[in-house]
Amino acid sequence: MIPSQPNCTDIYESGLLPVDKAIKQILAALPIINDYETINIEQAKGRTLFTAISAPFDVPHHDNSAVDGYALNSADLPLEGNKSLSIIGSAYAGKPWLKAVDSGQCLHIMTGAIIPLGVDLVIMQEQVEIHGNTISLDNRHKKGQNIRLAGEDIQRGETILQAGRLITPADIGMMASLGIAEIKVQRKLKIAIASTGNEVISIGDIPSDSCIYDSNRYSLQAVLDRPDIDIINLGILEDNPLALLNSFNQASEYADVIISTGGVSVGDADHTKTALQQSGQIDFWKIAIKPGRPLAFGHIGPSIFFGLPGNPVAVLVTFYQFVLPALEKMLGIKDKAIVPLLEVTITENIRKKPGRTEIVRGILQQDNAGSWNVRTTGKQGSGILRSMSLANAFIILEHDRDSVSIGEKVTVQPFSGLL
Ligand code: AMP
Ligand code: MG
Repeated sequence: MIPSQPNCTDIYESGLLPVDKAIKQILAALPIINDYETINIEQAKGRTLFTAISAPFDVPHHDNSAVDGYALNSADLPLEGNKSLSIIGSAYAGKPWLKAVDSGQCLHIMTGAIIPLGVDLVIMQEQVEIHGNTISLDNRHKKGQNIRLAGEDIQRGETILQAGRLITPADIGMMASLGIAEIKVQRKLKIAIASTGNEVISIGDIPSDSCIYDSNRYSLQAVLDRPDIDIINLGILEDNPLALLNSFNQASEYADVIISTGGVSVGDADHTKTALQQSGQIDFWKIAIKPGRPLAFGHIGPSIFFGLPGNPVAVLVTFYQFVLPALEKMLGIKDKAIVPLLEVTITENIRKKPGRTEIVRGILQQDNAGSWNVRTTGKQGSGILRSMSLANAFIILEHDRDSVSIGEKVTVQPFSGLL
């Protein structure tokens, strides 16, 4: 259960709720799901660690050779000139030399092979002269060279991954190198999604003039398609307060989060708002953002509720700006790959007034000289989904920012990363 919220429409009656304040209030109101499941590391990409992982042994496990060469003791290094040592055998990675290497001796050693007793340096094979069963070495070498020490990478008992880590491929490789097969991760978040609106029809329904196909549920399904989320699809809900409330109440019996789209603005047919206002646990915010001004947030029974706007672009923008950080908090994610914000040159003018954040869809690209710049995707109406589909980045025009002119720097949030 989340604590009840101040009604922000009261606080900001004369103005609109700034984006950063809305995000802060949402995050402050959310619980972290304190529950785990045990999974194999093969399934761990994109899941969040519930308990920290520490190393059960040193990595590397033993001192070993960093090169193919000859292993010997530094007491046998010539002070000047050259010296000959006899080769007593060979050591390989996975096939160690089990005896000691004595004075006057050396061992042919391969990369990764364990350093035997009596050895404290390895000379690369290109740096010695080989004459039958002996090598001749000069005085360029030092104790400790070309030996990788046990525990140099990770020491036994060291915490290698903290709880709250969103697991990456490298993390999985590291756990495998430590022989860790199973880990505890945050349990999946169960999210119910619904579209509202009598004009909205499903793909496959016969369209009439006044109908539009539901795109919001499909966009939402796609952004929620991640290893740490289970989606419950409630379909399209009729614009009828009682029916809406019934569906949401039912969903609240199993969903951690309910996300609906449409019906949260002030139109006559916006029954989501009427229904949810009756539930008494939802706040209706007018946020200083374009697109995506209306947003409902609160709880229905034990579930967190987000009522996103109906316009398809506003759905995606509000999802990324408000819902995603919220879900990440609930999932206990504290350590994940950075999502960079870049400052790049804009190549067109954009009109804007201070007093709201504008999330413009942009195309980030390199010019011939290799510098990065950004332009808009053209028409920016909140129903024009193509503006989002063409984009590879958001151009974030901050709350207090005025119109933007060609050549100015703007903040850009790229959509994609490496991981
Ligand atoms: P509303 O906030 O319900 O007034 O919706 C705002 C606009 O978004 C209207 O033009 C709706 O027809 C449209 N819209 C609402 N829901 C959807 C949906 N699921 N898919 C596509 N467009 C929608
Ligand atoms: Mg509607």
